[in-house]
This record gives sequence, structure tokens and C-alpha cells, in this order.
Amino acid sequence: MAGKSTIEWTQVTWNPVTGCTKISAGCKNCYAERMAKRLHLMGSKHYINEFAVTLHEDLRDMNWIIVGGESGPGARPIHQEWVESLQKQALKHDIPFFFKQWGGTNKKKSGKLLNGKVFQESPAFAAIGT
Ligand code: SF4
Repeated sequence: MAGKSTIEWTQVTWNPVTGCTKISAGCKNCYAERMAKRLHLMGSKHYINEFAVTLHEDLRDMNWIIVGGESGPGARPIHQEWVESLQKQALKHDIPFFFKQWGGTNKKKSGKLLNGKVFQESPAFAAIGT
């Protein structure tokens, strides 16, 4: 979890995926790998697998779940089952769920409807539009 965020609408952020896969010679002296190993040695629960790609699925400690697909050139696809899984966990643990966008190369066209609805809950209020 980042200790402090410069994003105006939050104080901290946490990416539920840790680790990476070395894909090129440029990865040889990876700073993120060194940090992951250090945090593992320090006993951080988020780095129990050191630098192996790990999805931390236990979201109970979250105050807000915001989900969105990448957008712009080269955007990787987001799968509906991923979004629905996160939404299901948010509902189970009573965490506000915000679905920002499907993303892609034309995010306006792909929109933000999830099963026909807009989900824009926040910790301050829980509003679900249609
Ligand atoms: S985080 Fe490290 S291993 Fe992953 S792409 Fe960057 S340099 Fe390579």
C-alpha cells in the first residue's frame, strides 16, 4: 500500500498485484525485484512470494474498490469475469464498488456499463445509477 498518494480523491492506494516477469535484458537490474526481496525479508505479508506475480485476492481491508480497464493505444483487455469477481467481493465485505470504465482504444465507445448498470459507489455515499 502506498503511504501517501498525490491523487486528489484518495490518501493511499494499493495495487492488488505484486511481482513481475522479466521479459527483456532491460529487466536485469530490476529495482522492483530488489524491493520485493527486501520486503519479503522484512516479513511483509504482501511479498510472501517475493517477486513472483501474485494476485492478493483478500480485499477485506479495503475501504473502496475502483476497477477500470486500461485505455489508449496498446491497452490490454479487461475481462468481465475479473470485474464481476471484484464486485462480488466488494458486496460480500460491504466495500463501496466503483467501475470506472471498460477502456480500450476508444473508452467513450466502450463505456462503463456493467450488466446494464453504472456502479459508482464511494465511501462517502453509495449511489448506483442505471
Ligand atoms: S518491473 Fe522489473 S521485471 Fe518487470 S518489466 Fe520492469 S524492470 Fe522488468
